[in-house]
Amino acid sequence: MESHKKLMLANKAWVADKLSVNPEFFSESSRDQAPEFMWIGCSDSRVPAEDITGAEPGELFVHRNIANLVVHTDFNMLSVLQYAVEVLEVKHIIVCGHYGCGGVKNAMTHSDLGLINKWLRNIKDVYRIYSRELEAIADPAARFDRLVEVNTMEQVQHLAETSIVQRAWHLHGRPHIHGWVYDLRTGYLKELALMKPGSRVEDIYTFDFGESPKTPKKLQD
Ligand SMILES: [Zn+2]
Repeated sequence: MESHKKLMLANKAWVADKLSVNPEFFSESSRDQAPEFMWIGCSDSRVPAEDITGAEPGELFVHRNIANLVVHTDFNMLSVLQYAVEVLEVKHIIVCGHYGCGGVKNAMTHSDLGLINKWLRNIKDVYRIYSRELEAIADPAARFDRLVEVNTMEQVQHLAETSIVQRAWHLHGRPHIHGWVYDLRTGYLKELALMKPGSRVEDIYTFDFGESPKTPKKLQD
């Protein structure tokens, strides 16, 4: 059998399985979505968000890219973030990194990989910030693991530095932002960081929403 046909067959089995548990499953889930969580994870095929968290359709609003990055000029990520926070009103955003991340591993080398150099540059910037700590780790595998962790924690900070998150904190007291790491070797998730609504953000990254936060301030000359 051609490999892609296996996926189509598996889909039929999945539908039958869902209907056997709840005959209304698809009519219910097709009505609307109200996920409590936004997930920012790596594109890596071994880190399927729903599978590793046991989440059902409708529970996670997912954005994935190489090495689970939050890049402030990435309109794809920002659009997902804005929709999740302002329309779906998610209570939690989870950034999930994973040990063995190919994106992080390649960012630690001097390899010229073409276009993706630009994307991995963001991880090299994280390396530079933590270079003293990382270069004090003699074991290359342990250093790699640590860069995966600090990269995830930096992306949590990047979320808190967006006006989207800060405005939601100011107006609604949500969302919580979590930094987790997934261990391919054991299957377990580990918590690395948690930023509660209103957490301190470096001063230069804070926005002043004034008295009427919903009305953007008129730009001044
Ligand atoms: Zn990865």
